Amino acid sequence: MICLGIESTAHSFSISIVSDKNKKVLSNIINAYKTKTGGLIPSKLAEHHVEVLDITLRKALTKTGISIKDVDLIAFSQGPGLGHTLRIGAGLARSLSLLLNKPLIGVNHCIAHLEIGRFLTRAKDPVLLYVSGANTQVIAYEAGKYRVFGETLDIGAGNFLDSFARELDLGFPGGPRIEALAKMSRKYIKLPYSVKGMDISLGGLSTNLKQKIKSKKYSKNDLCFSVQETVFAMLVEVAERAMAHTDKNELLLGGGVACNKRLQEMCEIMTKERRAKTFVLPNEFLVDNAAMIAVTGLEMFKAGMRTSIKDANIRPYERTDDVDVRWR
Ligand code: AMP
Ligand code: MG
Repeated sequence: MICLGIESTAHSFSISIVSDKNKKVLSNIINAYKTKTGGLIPSKLAEHHVEVLDITLRKALTKTGISIKDVDLIAFSQGPGLGHTLRIGAGLARSLSLLLNKPLIGVNHCIAHLEIGRFLTRAKDPVLLYVSGANTQVIAYEAGKYRVFGETLDIGAGNFLDSFARELDLGFPGGPRIEALAKMSRKYIKLPYSVKGMDISLGGLSTNLKQKIKSKKYSKNDLCFSVQETVFAMLVEVAERAMAHTDKNELLLGGGVACNKRLQEMCEIMTKERRAKTFVLPNEFLVDNAAMIAVTGLEMFKAGMRTSIKDANIRPYERTDDVDVRWR
């Protein structure tokens, strides 16, 4: 069975072709909207997605050598995300489904970050540490649903890193620049550490950093190193607590921030100490991508789930535990 996946929850427009035969991602074309300084205007993102829609679809098909007529299923990200951009993907999905007379399936973006790990690695029932620009959540399957065991109480870790990088004039996206500078320091500056039960909070740290930058007493490298150590320790702590609580021994990383090698290393240290395992996917499957939408769509379809044209609306505020998980 061949599924065409469409992702459009935020800054990236992506189309992927996945075959469930031998579990193969045949193509995964990602067109990310870029700005010099960061900051995203939803209507501009939507314009970008419309502009790249045609070329993304063509590339995804030509790379596989299959014709659109060979596609058996259309999957699209239904939420959570930005209304402006979700509408572009959902519109394309409905059009393709009607034109090709093929079934349609709406997919939850956060759950898809976990399902792609189960599809591409040997992880069977992992806890997902999902750290992207807007989202920071620890998600796992328990009692018939995917549930959020911990999350940020204010901003997402990626957005936090980007705004910290902006304060230091490092450019956008900030995460990779911070990672590069952090490598040049080993000096830890004490910073506020805020874990509240299963959740984290970054607002206080953000204010504290602004004051430290203003004081001009600290080097950029030392600040970057210390920020990474502090924020990643918070993430690893809540991930570990979720693993202990759910009694699971697999950790999967997802989201753009998960591309960070130091975060990966800290997760590996934690899971090794627990005799558990960390699974890290190649970067193209960590960032927002349509392969994860196609993979999840296939699982849902095989479990008998369908989305009618009438129900193929967008769900910008869909919560992870709203989803009826019939495929597990
Ligand atoms: P996403 O929303 O999943 O596309 O992720 C985007 C976020 O990932 C941005 O905030 C980036 O700064 C962040 N990011 C990307 N690469 C890295 C990295 N190597 N280290 C830390 N953050 C990163
Ligand atoms: Mg994402």
